Amino acid sequence: MSETSTKENMQFQTEVNQLLHLMIHSLYSNKEIFLRELVSNASDACDKLRFEALSNDALYEDDSELRIEIESDEKANTVTIRDNGIGMTRDDVINHIGTIAKSGTKEFLQKLSGDQAKDSQMIGQFGVGFYSSFIVADKVTLTTRKAGTDKAVRWESTGESGFTIEDVEKAPRGTEIVLHLKDDEKEFASDYRLKSIIKTYSDHISIPIKMHKRDDKGELTDEWEVVNKAEALWTKPKTKISDEEYKEFYKHISHDWQDPLTWIHNRVEGNLEYTSLLYLPSKAPFDLWEPEQKNGIKLYVQRIFIMDDTENLMPRYLRFVRGLIDSNDLPLNVSREILQSNKIIDTIRRASVKKVLGLLEKMAKDDKDKYQEFWKEFGRVLKEGPGEDFSNREKIAKLLRFTSTHADSETQNVSLEDYVSRMKEGQDKIYYITAESYAAAKNSPHLEIFKKKDVEVLLLHDRVDEWLVNSLTEFDGKQLQSVAKGDLDLGDLDTKEDKKAQKKIEKSAKSVVKHIKKVLGDKVEDVRVSHRLTNSASCIVLNEHDMALYMQQLMKQAGHEMPSTKPVLEINPTHPLLEKMKNETDDDRFADWTSILFDQAILAEGGQLEDPSGFVNRLNALMLS
Ligand code: ADP
Repeated sequence: MSETSTKENMQFQTEVNQLLHLMIHSLYSNKEIFLRELVSNASDACDKLRFEALSNDALYEDDSELRIEIESDEKANTVTIRDNGIGMTRDDVINHIGTIAKSGTKEFLQKLSGDQAKDSQMIGQFGVGFYSSFIVADKVTLTTRKAGTDKAVRWESTGESGFTIEDVEKAPRGTEIVLHLKDDEKEFASDYRLKSIIKTYSDHISIPIKMHKRDDKGELTDEWEVVNKAEALWTKPKTKISDEEYKEFYKHISHDWQDPLTWIHNRVEGNLEYTSLLYLPSKAPFDLWEPEQKNGIKLYVQRIFIMDDTENLMPRYLRFVRGLIDSNDLPLNVSREILQSNKIIDTIRRASVKKVLGLLEKMAKDDKDKYQEFWKEFGRVLKEGPGEDFSNREKIAKLLRFTSTHADSETQNVSLEDYVSRMKEGQDKIYYITAESYAAAKNSPHLEIFKKKDVEVLLLHDRVDEWLVNSLTEFDGKQLQSVAKGDLDLGDLDTKEDKKAQKKIEKSAKSVVKHIKKVLGDKVEDVRVSHRLTNSASCIVLNEHDMALYMQQLMKQAGHEMPSTKPVLEINPTHPLLEKMKNETDDDRFADWTSILFDQAILAEGGQLEDPSGFVNRLNALMLS
């Protein structure tokens, strides 16, 4: 590698450029968040050094008192933020702040709403915090030296035309950022202003934040004073922590800008000793549905930050939980590998899952509106639970909410317990239908007999539902049964008279069924008289274990091989269309009627026709005849 000490000009990556342009020209509200972001980075850098120094004490270089210093200079119109944390190498600087846009950058640009207040608050969550410097500064100078190395670098940029990078002779360990404030941002070059911002946003940061003391006359001195509380919030007794403090702390660790929905703070003593502080966000983060999340649970060992963890401390179906776990029993040199198979972690995880489920249970009982808010954001994630966590299946099942034929709205607020409490005399199953949308579920012909008998059916229309019902096959000793799959067995819901009437209809429809079957040939598994239909002419019935038609199609579109299973066509002989068919003497026309009957049933199921224009032509021909 060639060593260079001259200034090098480099360009920002395209998306970074866009982002900077935005920071410079269009974020006018909440400008003070730049300080929160930079202090947050400085605090992370100190945490990282403390962690690395556990196995390499020399990194402290005789300066183990980690701190953040903030200075303002009214004359020069600058603000300086300095930390003696881990620092960065030249490559780190180029990679982290300049050329490589992190995954969050693009997302951030896409998510911009145009609402100033909201957009500026989002900055932290998307991991683009450093760039917020350019909201108030027209030039930023960053000087840094990585712990354990003796080469320092200086990065400088006006945000508009790339950046320069050069080696510098000597610099203290860690990172110093000088913000050269824009002319109209002079207000930030004031100790008072900065102190009040720190109080609002960074009071709980456990690293001390220091500023120059003033003497009796109000003049700045060389002495430093700590301006934040600088204690680990979670180590304090619950009664000594205000809601405001909990909320502020949540924003710090989650990078969220909104208040959390609720939280649970818990100290465990005995065999294992640990503290957990777990939050439920009020809104889903942007990456909730991405395979890998950026944030998760922070692991501390004896108050020392060890790592962010998104896999071992919470299961996937609770991946929206934020917060921290501070253990007294894990070794300080715990690694990711150790986390993956560790008895202590397993125990903590199991207990934490119980805590979160308990918190949800309580919310569902005591504050239904709040629970609905939660459900709207995270219900679809929780629905992954029964398939993932066998031991808590029943507990999770109680937390699930659905729409049903009982309620006349798309809001998912029917619990399985509600359903069971409304079950009819003689009903022994929990009936449901899965469909592509609420409308498709609600209007499905499969529901006709249930409407007639006034039996409630759960309307499942989230994609994850098809997967949910695969793993949640019963609740409270009652089987979950799809009304669109397999033989319909209504058990004691069918009276003797019902059965008698069915037999009679079946008999009278024998020949038309036979004729239809002949026409459809190997397109169907079977054709039979339906006991589900009262209004519609026909419907498609799948095998007990088949995936719903719309899901099969989705899977095929996504490139998955799907076994081609043949459906059963059920017909309603009391429908006028079938009356007409019974009297049809022209074979070709009978075939057309049959095709239409079959295609209609597929359409009602949310399926796609193999030959849509054939369907339209046949329909038109019959309408005109
Ligand atoms: P984020 O902090 O969310 O990753 P930023 O844009 O604020 O996003 O920072 C980008 C990266 O630059 C950080 O992840 C970190 O690696 C590095 N960085 C920023 N500030 C500092 C600092 N004060 N000390 C050491 N590294 C830093």
